[in-house]
Amino acid sequence: MSSRHIQTLIRPLVQGLTPYVPGEQPKIKGLIKLNTNENPYPPSPRVLAATRAAVDGRLRRYPNPTAQLLRDKLARLHDCKPENIIVGNGSDELLAMAVRAFVEPRARQACRLSRTGGTPALLWSKSIVQFFTPSYSLYPVLADIHGAARNTVPLSADFTLPSLAELKRARQWDFRAALTFVTTPNAPSGRGYCAAELEELCRAQKGVVLLDEAYVDFAGENAMRLALKYPHVLVARTFSKAYSLCFQRVGYCVGHAELIAALHKIRDSYNVNGLGQVAALATLDDLPCYRASFCKIIATRERLSHELEALGFRVFPSQTNFILVRPPRYSAQAWLKKLRNRRILVRWFSDPLVRDYLRITIGTPEEAAALVRAAKAVL
Ligand code: PMP
Repeated sequence: MSSRHIQTLIRPLVQGLTPYVPGEQPKIKGLIKLNTNENPYPPSPRVLAATRAAVDGRLRRYPNPTAQLLRDKLARLHDCKPENIIVGNGSDELLAMAVRAFVEPRARQACRLSRTGGTPALLWSKSIVQFFTPSYSLYPVLADIHGAARNTVPLSADFTLPSLAELKRARQWDFRAALTFVTTPNAPSGRGYCAAELEELCRAQKGVVLLDEAYVDFAGENAMRLALKYPHVLVARTFSKAYSLCFQRVGYCVGHAELIAALHKIRDSYNVNGLGQVAALATLDDLPCYRASFCKIIATRERLSHELEALGFRVFPSQTNFILVRPPRYSAQAWLKKLRNRRILVRWFSDPLVRDYLRITIGTPEEAAALVRAAKAVL
């Protein structure tokens, strides 16, 4: 069978997809890895012990299909009911499920039309996935996979959230979009948004608003209360970043029981692996230990920001475990290479909106010091 024939077996939409590109995970000895916003500190000893203890003959059994114990515990933490919570294989899975549950795919003809320059005004709001740019680069990929339309609106100067008045004036924003993603605090800028401005935006939206709080534990404020106050608002969280469990893939979404039930309907039967459930449960029993590590990461973030500023970097204020910087003298892409030559890996995005910047994950104080030394040597 020729390759051309094999291609005909694949849906045209899938043939045309550009997949999401995750940050590199190279196995280079001595590499300081500051490119994927992983936590530099390991899970707590209690979490490691609980996970190890679960590795026995039970591995032959299916895990609890709805992560019941974890949902019970999360419900107590957020002062809601287990029906308000769904757990996912990382929060990425929940973002994808939200697109599938709330957004109508477009007819094929409409897909072709918009690729050739259809404007959002011509598109049906029910098939729109909407988000600000720059934000999490997975959202457009999820919209494309589903055959949904994307509507993007740029953030204001210095990556602040446009006001409602500005959004109305610009006419680009769709207040009826089926699904609006807001990364809060924002990635890759690190900018935090206050709950009051998010609430104003949520109140104006007619479709579902998903507040993606992947980095919120490093911020001064969160918007969880909005998910429990407004039936069309969901908040997604993850155990990956603040709780050092990227490897285990556990995230969750909080919201009105009817929206959450819709997500449960389209979930894979056993979407959250058993060891992930065990590790996340043990994490919730050890929160004070994690809160101490957030403080350490925030302190390192502030110190590193000042030190890079002193070297001529423009550093955007961050409420996350990474900083976005505009480096001096050389292009951001050149800096990426120069730092890599010194065994420090940071993240650079080719997107024109952020191609002049580097995103640097906050590591340990020693890793931050090594980065500052490398930056001085480059300069
Ligand atoms: N939201 C944002 C903004 C992220 O940066 C990430 C991690 N890349 C996620 C969600 C997903 O995290 P996870 O699937 O590991 O829970």
